[in-house]
Amino acid sequence: MKALDELTFDNRFARLGDAFSTHVLPDPLDAPRLVVASEAAMALLDLDPAEAHDPVFAKLFGGHTLWADAEPRAMVYSGHQFGSYNPQLGDGRGLLLGEVYNEAGEHWDLHLKGAGMTPYSRMGDGRAVLRSSIREFLASEALHALGIPTSRALCVIGSDTPVWREKQERGAMVLRLAHSHIRFGHFEYFYYTQRPEQQKQLGEHVLALHYPQCLEQPEPYLAMFQKSVERNAELIAKWQAYGFCHGVMNTDNMSILGITFDFGPFAFLDDFDARFICNHSDQQGRYSFSNQVPIGQWNLSALAQALTPFISVEALRETLDLFLPLYQAHYLDLMRRRLGLTTAEDGDQTLVEDLLQRMQGSAIDYTLFLRRLGDEPAEQAVARLRDEFVDLEAFDQWAALYVARVNREGEIDPQQRRERMHAVNPLYILRNYLAQKAIDAAEAGDYSEVQRLHTVLTQPFTEQPGMQSYAERPPEWGKHLEISCSS
Ligand code: AMP
Ligand code: MG
Repeated sequence: MKALDELTFDNRFARLGDAFSTHVLPDPLDAPRLVVASEAAMALLDLDPAEAHDPVFAKLFGGHTLWADAEPRAMVYSGHQFGSYNPQLGDGRGLLLGEVYNEAGEHWDLHLKGAGMTPYSRMGDGRAVLRSSIREFLASEALHALGIPTSRALCVIGSDTPVWREKQERGAMVLRLAHSHIRFGHFEYFYYTQRPEQQKQLGEHVLALHYPQCLEQPEPYLAMFQKSVERNAELIAKWQAYGFCHGVMNTDNMSILGITFDFGPFAFLDDFDARFICNHSDQQGRYSFSNQVPIGQWNLSALAQALTPFISVEALRETLDLFLPLYQAHYLDLMRRRLGLTTAEDGDQTLVEDLLQRMQGSAIDYTLFLRRLGDEPAEQAVARLRDEFVDLEAFDQWAALYVARVNREGEIDPQQRRERMHAVNPLYILRNYLAQKAIDAAEAGDYSEVQRLHTVLTQPFTEQPGMQSYAERPPEWGKHLEISCSS
């Protein structure tokens, strides 16, 4: 276990030089204080959890002081936002403080979000508000606990610093951890500014640090692109299987490592709705729940375009074509498991689609339905769940096929079925209304609800005594919360 001042840095991205990032110091928050810290994320840096309560912790992650070996940099990138190319993005309010390596030899980027203005702030103020910082923190740690690849969050630091959004709010900072902060938009930036030398430098950096096995392939860049296709297909399959809606799948928010990245107006589905749009600013529904799959592919094609100086268009196209079948295979595998199936049959895809079709429009809580399906043997479970459906006949027809399908796998002990299904079907997810309740309390100065919710979400599959209220469907007020991009 390490103390805060014992972290060891090796700032590999900073060493790429000024074409890639700009040196900027954090702009400190007034009266910084700890809102919440993740012990599990601290462990990634070998940090003693007690360090979170040292006054230096809030000062460091509130932008007041830095390690001597930190080299804070704002990264430059561009990207496609809602389908249109924006030539100049970059870290407008976040800084890569440096790269820390732990005792296991893993490197972690320390990225401080909300750290003030940078050359890439454009019209923004460089700040993040408490509300959005808490949402990013909870989502990162909750997705990780569900087994979904994501950037991590070490802590949220609150403050007295006023920040103007639709109303006056308070500034906060999140300390984000990831193996890399390189986005599709990094590659697009050097492609569209026609700087093949720097683009190559970036590619070699990613290959050497993150995809060294690709260097052994005849075409390392193509192998790297394929890895990105594979990892993003798997990531999006997990989002779809667990009902996670990202909300702003711009190419600057897509990670080259295929992790969930840059949390804004995200949401987990409450009632199943394939057409759900979680981002209030997304009027066309470009990033609706079911569109995440074609958009994932679209984003990869934007990355492919940026890689055309290195790889033939034909090879890129062939590799891009792997996305959909890979996605489908991962998704089906996850959904089989969520339905308690251990073997594969040809009709499984249809079985899943038919269930979702019946959920659509019936106001069925997606998470709780699947959790309860595992509570009892298949026949009893469907009998108990049927009353929630609007079209009972359609449900019964599906239920009969499902029960027959389960029975074809042979007899299974109910206890075993429950354990197996509960291990993949969470009871607790980060519902928007739960986040909102925790945020309301935090804005009034009480951080205990954020901390409690975080603790519950770190064990989403395990029923926790006294925590029943965290597993409930949203109340009326919590069903239609409007979450905008303003954060
Ligand atoms: P996002 O939608 O959070 O991915 O942000 C898109 C771009 O806008 C990124 O380049 C951000 O750094 C930048 N940005 C977002 N909010 C702010 C802000 N308050 N101040 C400066 N830049 C911002
Ligand atoms: Mg972003």
